[in-house]
Amino acid sequence: MARRPLVAGNWKMNGLKSSIGELEKIVAGARSLRDTDVMICPPATLIESFAAAASGSAVTIGGQDCHAQAEGAYTGEISAEMLRDAGARAVIVGHSERRQYHCETNEVVRAKLLAALRADLLAILCVGETRAERDGGRTHEVVDSQLDGSLPDGTKNVVIAYEPIWAIGSGETPTASDVGAMHGFIRELLAVKCGQAAAEIRILYGGSVKPSNAKELLAVDNVDGALVGGASLKAEDFLAIAGVYG
Ligand code: PEP
Repeated sequence: MARRPLVAGNWKMNGLKSSIGELEKIVAGARSLRDTDVMICPPATLIESFAAAASGSAVTIGGQDCHAQAEGAYTGEISAEMLRDAGARAVIVGHSERRQYHCETNEVVRAKLLAALRADLLAILCVGETRAERDGGRTHEVVDSQLDGSLPDGTKNVVIAYEPIWAIGSGETPTASDVGAMHGFIRELLAVKCGQAAAEIRILYGGSVKPSNAKELLAVDNVDGALVGGASLKAEDFLAIAGVYG
């Protein structure tokens, strides 16, 4: 089963209106990529203008988080429907920075994922272990419980991002063989939860992906693309990563 690779950039809390030039370079560079889906997830303030600038191109725009409810008295929050209305076609849920700084549990992440599907957004669900959990030999257990708790059974319109937390922004990455083992494990878990549809679900690797290591990491079995943080802020670096698949 051939899964079309996805390379998505998470800009986190970076970017102003003046950053549109970087997106325009990404849009221009992505024109030559025939076999890769390319996505940028800017801060919510830039979704509308970025979606307009990327309209008709191969680049889609996503949000970085959403609330579980469609509307209501939730000051400061943004719903999946609002993201869609602004031009987003996807949203990241359960990023480790949301789990850590906003105390998001698997239950909360699951509700957000369901909200994304309700609003017809592709949900990118992040899972991954801390350094302490890895050192304690608990990586499989942690990822299993995150997937079990936050991914509803039978879900199809979802992408999984395996992001070992200790690799995010640190410059460190697992070895290609560790990445292959984890992605294979996640594929098995997906088969239990989603049956045959598991073969169609893309599993991205995330954590310090750079132009210098992208080729090796993205060639690993069951790695169907990347979720890129820091290196997605510069069009040249991001395009070098997205260009690995052509
Ligand atoms: C991320 O935060 O999703 C991420 C992968 O960050 P970085 O690429 O900077 O490690």
